[in-house]
Amino acid sequence: MRAVQLVEIGSPLQARDVPMPPMGENDVLVRIKAAGICHSDVHYQLGVAPVGPLPQTLGHEIAGIVEAIGSNVTSHTVGQRVCLHYLLTCGDCAHCLSASEQFCRDAKMIGKDCDGGYAEYIAVPARNAVPLPDEVPFEQGAVLMCSSATVFHALCKARLRAGETVAVFGVGGLGMSAIQLAKMFGALDVYAVDIHEQRLAMAESYGAVPIDASAGDPVRELLRESGAQGVDVALGLVGIPEVMRQAVQALAPRGRAVIVGITDRLLAIDPYREIVGREGEIIGSSDHLLQELPVLVEFVRQGRLDLSHIVTQAIPLAADAVNRTLERLKEFGPGVRCVIEA
Ligand SMILES: [Zn+2]
Ligand SMILES: [Zn+2]
Repeated sequence: MRAVQLVEIGSPLQARDVPMPPMGENDVLVRIKAAGICHSDVHYQLGVAPVGPLPQTLGHEIAGIVEAIGSNVTSHTVGQRVCLHYLLTCGDCAHCLSASEQFCRDAKMIGKDCDGGYAEYIAVPARNAVPLPDEVPFEQGAVLMCSSATVFHALCKARLRAGETVAVFGVGGLGMSAIQLAKMFGALDVYAVDIHEQRLAMAESYGAVPIDASAGDPVRELLRESGAQGVDVALGLVGIPEVMRQAVQALAPRGRAVIVGITDRLLAIDPYREIVGREGEIIGSSDHLLQELPVLVEFVRQGRLDLSHIVTQAIPLAADAVNRTLERLKEFGPGVRCVIEA
């Protein structure tokens, strides 16, 4: 089959003919219909995040059709539409059994630690294949496995309750889902903090109060908007320590800042004023859980989570098209969503 692979760190991806993936008795073979190109894939290509062994088929945002099932599989049928949970776990270690499978000792990520979705087919354990209803396009099924799932998990980690207020720092693809999901959790007011006019306008169309961080200190603005209270939950979706600190500074008493953005730079905090004195919390949120995915798919099917804005471009499974997209992601950063479609 055809695949677009990372052969050498730092080099463009290459189109290669590779064998069909071997399928175990508990696996499903999926014909890939959509594979999202994520900003993380740039990190893998550049060697910023570990990836391998090489050559490796990248791509962890995958939706498609079940082409074959293993002899033990009774949960799925041939022809079924599915989207794939990208974490492969053992399923029975202490972490897997306590809904913290991201920390499974055997966890592997599709498209990072093993071959992923920039290909015609992939084989995964049947339990990783989440049913995708007809109403949800493949490309939306693919990208919701990463961006929407990440912020849904972050809001769960935030313990967001009805009637609370939320500030979303950074409203790209993740942020647009975060605004809509926060409303579904019952958030009273949702503030969108960004520096891009277009994103702020879209955030406003989803019901958020736009805060333009390029026009001045967004923390002061958030305090003004919230009657000097601050917000109960702040999501730090941008991998910039200064922005993460703003998320902490914007908290109300007993507020929770959930950090999702990734950086290797240090985060400075005033422990008394920003954490101790108001019992603030800084919470890390990593990936998401399999059990969180079916409800997200259902939100999209019901039209309550609108992902129609997310996919901005579709390209074929071809190395030059994928490489051009990766180059563009390097220039613009997160927010451009491109999907390989078959
Ligand atoms: Zn992703
Ligand atoms: Zn495990």
